[in-house]
Amino acid sequence: MKAEIIAVGTELLTGQIVNTNAQFLSEKFAELGIDVFYQTVVGDNENRLLSVIDIASSRSNLVVLCGGLGPTDDDLTKQTLAKYLGRHLEFDEQAVQRLDAFFATRPQFTRTPNNERQAQLIAGSVPLQNTTGLAVGGIIEQNAVTYVVLPGPPSELIPMVTDQLVPYLTQSNQRLYSRVLRFFGIGESQLVTVLADVIKDQTDPTIAPYAKTGEVTLRLSTKAVSEEAAGLKLDKLEERIMAIKTLDGVSLSDLHYGYGDDNSLARTAFDLLKEKGKTVTAAESLTAGLFQASLAEFSGASQVFSGGFVTYSMEEKAKMLKIPLTDLQAHGVVSAFTAEKMADQARKLTDSDFGLGLTGVAGPQELEKQPAGTVFIGFASKEKVYSLKLELGSRSRSDIRYITVLHAFNLIRQTLLKD
Ligand code: ATP
Repeated sequence: MKAEIIAVGTELLTGQIVNTNAQFLSEKFAELGIDVFYQTVVGDNENRLLSVIDIASSRSNLVVLCGGLGPTDDDLTKQTLAKYLGRHLEFDEQAVQRLDAFFATRPQFTRTPNNERQAQLIAGSVPLQNTTGLAVGGIIEQNAVTYVVLPGPPSELIPMVTDQLVPYLTQSNQRLYSRVLRFFGIGESQLVTVLADVIKDQTDPTIAPYAKTGEVTLRLSTKAVSEEAAGLKLDKLEERIMAIKTLDGVSLSDLHYGYGDDNSLARTAFDLLKEKGKTVTAAESLTAGLFQASLAEFSGASQVFSGGFVTYSMEEKAKMLKIPLTDLQAHGVVSAFTAEKMADQARKLTDSDFGLGLTGVAGPQELEKQPAGTVFIGFASKEKVYSLKLELGSRSRSDIRYITVLHAFNLIRQTLLKD
C-alpha cells in the first residue's frame, strides 16, 4: 500500500506550527508496514487543495488528510474532498449527539451553523469518532483509493489514529483478493522479461508468475476492503499487462486465454465449441487419443464430439482414414501433408465441423530423420485445411504429447474467436 499524507493549514506553510502530525502518522504507518511515499503541506485554499488531492489520488492508494475540519470558514478539507469525489456531506448521528452534549453542558457558548459542520461526514464514509474534540473524522474508499480525513489538533488526531484508524487498517476487513491470468504461447522467462517494468513498479497489487507445462499464469493479488475496490485495482493492472507486447510483437491480450486456477485451455476451447454449437474430431498419432480423452473429461462432451481416430501406424492411417498409403509413404508420417490429410479425413468421415490431425515425434529417438519434438498439427474446417509445425525440442515424451494437445485446443479457440 502506498500512502501519502496531506497536512492542510496555512499556519504550517508560514512556519507558525510544526507539522508534527505528519511525523506521527509516518511513524505509525511504518509500524504497520505501510509505505509513505509522499508528505505534502497545503494552505487553506480550495483550488490548491483540489490539485494536491488529485495528484495524490494518481500516485497513492491511501491518502490521509489532516487539519481543516473545524468550524471556521477556512476549514475546508471535508468540503473540498467531497467536491473532488463528487459526493455530498451528511450528518453523522453520533457526532451530532456529541455536539448536543457539548452545548447542553456549556450554556455560555452559542451554537452556530458552523459548529454543525463539524458533525458532517462525506456521504459513504466510515466515521472516526472524535473522543477529545467535536470534529468527526472519516474514511472513504473511491476508485481504489482510501481517503482518510483527520482533525488537526494532535490531541484529537492521535487518539483517533491510535484507537480507530490503526485497527481499521489492520483489521480483517482488508481481505486478499487474487486474479489469475492464463497465457498460452509464451514462456515464463519471456513473459517476465516483457513485464519487467510492470513487475518492478508493482507493490500493490503484486504479480506472481508461475510456469506450468506449456503455459504460464500470472497471479495478481491485492488487499482491499471490498471485492469492488480490489476489482478496480486489478482491472487497472490487467489492462496495463494486456497492452504489453512480446518480443515478437504479439500483444499479451492475444496470448491470454482465460482466468482462474482451475481453468484450462481444453475447458476454454470446449466451452467455445458448445457456445457456438460446433463439433470437433481428431485423428491422433503421437498423442494416441490424449486430445479426445481430454474432451471427454467434460460433462456434455457428446454435444461437441461424436468420435474420432487413433491411428498410430502408417497402415492404420491409411486404412482407418482412407488416405492412399502411397501418398503417406511419399510425404512421410511426420509431415504437413499427413497432418492435414488426417484432419480433413477425420472431419469428413465423422461429419464434424472441425478436424484435427496430430502427428509427430514424441521421442526420444528421431523418426524419418526428424528430431524428437517435431510435431505437425493439421486443422480442417469446411472452408480450409492447413497445418502448424511445432519444434518442441528435447522434452519428455509426455510433455511433447501434452503440449501438442494444448496447441490443438488453442487452434480451436483461435478459430472460434475469429468466427
Ligand atoms: P479545529 O477544530 O481546532 O479548528 P481543525 O481540524 O480545523 O481543528 P486546524 O484548524 O487545521 O485543524 O488546526 C488546529 C490546530 O491544530 C492548529 O492551530 C495546530 O495547533 C494544530 N495542528 C494542525 N495541523 C497540525 C499539524 N500538521 N501538526 C501539528 N499540529 C497541527
